[in-house]
Amino acid sequence: MATIVQKEDPVLRGKAREVRLEEIGTPEFKKIIKDMQKALASQDDGVAIAAPQIAVPMRIFVVAGKAFDIQNRNRDKKDEKKGKASGKTPDLVCINPVITKLSKEKKWLPEGCLSVRYLYGNVERHARATLTALDEHGKPFTRGGSGLLAQIFQHEVDHLEGTLFIDKAKDIEDIPPEKAAKTL
Ligand code: ZN
Repeated sequence: MATIVQKEDPVLRGKAREVRLEEIGTPEFKKIIKDMQKALASQDDGVAIAAPQIAVPMRIFVVAGKAFDIQNRNRDKKDEKKGKASGKTPDLVCINPVITKLSKEKKWLPEGCLSVRYLYGNVERHARATLTALDEHGKPFTRGGSGLLAQIFQHEVDHLEGTLFIDKAKDIEDIPPEKAAKTL
């Protein structure tokens, strides 16, 4: 299985390259996506991963289905009676992602990273973000997000630029993983 590289690795500090359309769908490319999904699934607290985190310097990130479940759960707290089944949401694959819109409103949010074990800190993020990308079949899509999803979009696009959350975070702390919430 692909290992998740840690913050000392130079691959995390480079600018990832664009994926060419003809690469999408090749066995090599599908394997990269699979490796990212497996590496992400291997981390209980992981909600998203960018390709450089498995040492592949390409503009791809994957948001775990559970990130959407967490968000829906938070949103549906009031009407839990609906008994909405969760946990089966597919991962969202984002290729060549571009953030096209950011809210003026910003929030300081606790953040961690699968490549910065086990540090956590507060990062100021835009409250809402809109992203345009290609899916795993090369089909373009646009997706808006608030809360955790907006935070993930910004954190992962930072990875593709060689930026880590610790470059921007305040109050960085070393927290044992079992006490931390979610890790991007
Ligand atoms: Zn990260």
